[in-house]
Amino acid sequence: MRIGVLALQGAFREHQKILAECGVESTQIRKNTQLDGISALIIPGGESTTIGKLMNEFELFEPIIKMSEDGLPVLGTCAGLIMLAKEINGSQQARLNLMDISVERNAFGRQVDSFETDLDIPVLGAQPYRAVFIRAPYITGVGGNVQVLAKYEEKIVLARQGRFMAAAFHPELTGDLRLHRYFIENCL
Ligand code: GLN
Repeated sequence: MRIGVLALQGAFREHQKILAECGVESTQIRKNTQLDGISALIIPGGESTTIGKLMNEFELFEPIIKMSEDGLPVLGTCAGLIMLAKEINGSQQARLNLMDISVERNAFGRQVDSFETDLDIPVLGAQPYRAVFIRAPYITGVGGNVQVLAKYEEKIVLARQGRFMAAAFHPELTGDLRLHRYFIENCL
């Protein structure tokens, strides 16, 4: 099994490190030919308009959408969550439109650009989950098939829709393997 990590911009190396700790091989995706043979895709945090522009430039939208419709599991974190959304409040920026979620970008406001907190994520077990939020989005609305997996102050910050998972925070930065393991065990 080999998991592709979109490596156009952002925190892709950190995801690869966590995958290695999970004992899973990974590969960096920059060109559409590199998508061949991957078992899942991770879209990292970074800056979603930049990631979208580069995905257009490198002609990655069409093959990723096609593969996702054919069963490819996708995990999006932070900017990656934005890329998965159907609706980005107030923005027409490019996105994959794979999950029936609406998102608000940079949603926690300037005062709290970045913060860390302990989340209760029941599907990951009783132990609190340390989450790092960096200019993070949150999910403002979900369709009927979307499972809400965690909230922070009533705001949805982790959700799953079948093989697709979206986190508003950065699970690759804390060394806690539980979220990646959950994705691998339940979405693949
Ligand atoms: N604020 C970024 C965006 O809107 C996301 C931040 C992140 O990925 N850490 O794309």
